[in-house]
Amino acid sequence: MESEIKQISQSSYAVIGPEGATNFGIIKSSDGGAVLIDADIRRIDEVEEALKLTGCAAVKYLIDTHEHFDHTSANFYFRRRGVPIVGSAGCLGAMRDLGGPDFERMMKPVPELYERFPGLCLTLPDVVFADATKLTLPGVTLHLKYCAENGHSHSKGDTTIYFEEEEILIAGDLLYTEVHPVTFFGNIPNWLTALKPLFESHYKQLVPGHGPAVEGEKAGRAYFKKMYDYLEDFYGHAVEVKAGRESSEEAAKHMMSGAYAPLGKNRMVQRNINHFLTGKWF
Ligand SMILES: [Zn+2]
Repeated sequence: MESEIKQISQSSYAVIGPEGATNFGIIKSSDGGAVLIDADIRRIDEVEEALKLTGCAAVKYLIDTHEHFDHTSANFYFRRRGVPIVGSAGCLGAMRDLGGPDFERMMKPVPELYERFPGLCLTLPDVVFADATKLTLPGVTLHLKYCAENGHSHSKGDTTIYFEEEEILIAGDLLYTEVHPVTFFGNIPNWLTALKPLFESHYKQLVPGHGPAVEGEKAGRAYFKKMYDYLEDFYGHAVEVKAGRESSEEAAKHMMSGAYAPLGKNRMVQRNINHFLTGKWF
């Protein structure tokens, strides 16, 4: 399966990962510069190809929507090229405190990348904001908003990005569309709280962290609501499993049936439940 480069608006593109793999964003300024949103070193060739195909002369900023490896592992690559890396203080803190072992764990299956990129290591954002910030390039105004409720929703760094001129909302991993979410790094009650204001947010196009992009507020709201209902349902079942009133197989079966049956990345369901049972949450 190959990723798809989707033009979202006149100056914005999304690299939609195959089968629910991570999405990356590209926003072009009127002078040919680009803001790149998230990049995974394992898929750096796709990112470079997308920058070339969309006619971006130079990456001016890389934004990390949150700290997870699939969104930040190419920080090293772009830092080496002198690109400033923007992230929330929550993202920075999470990477600094917990990112090292996670980086090594995720690199284990792809050791050849250490040969291809000598010195490859966890690389922290160097332009950091607390709650909100604005980033501008010619013709581009981006509003970055820290949305990790109480410091922890899907992740500790969750940031949304709104491209003002073309009314595009990039939701990061607060939103998954058409695929099962990864919930095990998250705090689900806080994640639910963080989703509520997004029901009312304004945009013409919406890009999730994983899964296809969505056109229009009406469809977007339905996806945010689906995400909310999924998490609420999952949490309820996970609590039952933990209390011994339901088996983890029953819970997994429920999360893969009915309205959830068409969702991709089925393998995430049992992993999400198992992580919940380890008790390392919260
Ligand atoms: Zn992700």
